[in-house]
Amino acid sequence: MLTSFLFFGVVLLSGCGQAERDTLRFAGETMGTTYHITLVADEDESLKVDATTLQKAVDVELQKINQHMSTYIPVSELMLFNSASAGELYTLSKPLEEVLRLSQQISERSGGAFDITVGPLVNLWGFGPGKHEDDVPDAEAIADAKAMMGYHKLELVDGQARKLADIKLDLSAIAKGYGVDWIADYLAQQGINHYMVEIGGEIRVKGTNGKGQPWRIAIEQPSMVQQSVHKAISLTDVGMATSGDYRNYFEQDGKRYSHTIDPQTGYPITHRLASVTVIARTSAEADGWATAINVLGPERGMEVANREKLAVYMIVKEDEGFSDRYSTAFEPYR
Ligand code: ADP
Ligand code: MG
Repeated sequence: MLTSFLFFGVVLLSGCGQAERDTLRFAGETMGTTYHITLVADEDESLKVDATTLQKAVDVELQKINQHMSTYIPVSELMLFNSASAGELYTLSKPLEEVLRLSQQISERSGGAFDITVGPLVNLWGFGPGKHEDDVPDAEAIADAKAMMGYHKLELVDGQARKLADIKLDLSAIAKGYGVDWIADYLAQQGINHYMVEIGGEIRVKGTNGKGQPWRIAIEQPSMVQQSVHKAISLTDVGMATSGDYRNYFEQDGKRYSHTIDPQTGYPITHRLASVTVIARTSAEADGWATAINVLGPERGMEVANREKLAVYMIVKEDEGFSDRYSTAFEPYR
């Protein structure tokens, strides 16, 4: 049996005690996980939105994103592109074009640690849609799936895409973040200046919380038994994402297999990086980079974080317990 453990790397700290501004909170489900949204009115104003109408509209927007990038919807735009022949020029929607372009940038800047052509390997290891095997695949099957990979085999030109070989894309490492940004932009268009949007631990915040202060987000200690607050940080006008091997994996013979795959080996990552949190301009960037740095591991990941001036916080497994490490750009958040 494949056993998936889900762990949420962040907690949303809600204020208590003080008088709050007019605040609306709602939650729902999307992309195989949950979402949470908090809206706050401008100072001395009340929110001019109807809760039911707004949540319905948010759900419609999330369904749109899923229709573009889900690997769980056989007729999503992404899946249609996946089944298109190599060489064919394919006109992309704006959301898919944006997320593919950003993915390719992160691939290049991470030296291929992030690679959305990982699809065949993800399925082989049992983390994609469809049949979930509990066994470690054999070396030959891994080599075959790995041979199909390579982000260089995807060409993007002027809103169009072309596969240069038979590749299968998987946007699971970045789509939640993109969905968060999409909803954030939607709320901004509705005239909302203060919000916190979260899907499965990926976040985007703007303005202030109900107390008129920066949003407080806690990064949890990676523990199976307790979910204690590890570190709380103040954020505004940024995206944040956490990637960690405690969140989704299977176990066989006492060994843990993460759903994050190292494209260089074709095997799930095995290093001592327990979780990595990235703060960036958008949630999509944070999401993609969190996965990329998770693949790179604690040492190379921190080198790349500093070279790219990314705000990164790592929790690293030690012989006893955990230690934390920060990139230079993360200093202001400590
Ligand atoms: P985490 O929060 O642990 O980073 P995500 O949900 O962001 O997890 O991304 C993990 C998913 O990304 C996997 O389930 C798989 O579909 C896909 N994936 C795995 N390895 C890679 C990789 N090296 N590059 C891009 N996507 C990957
Ligand atoms: Mg990710």
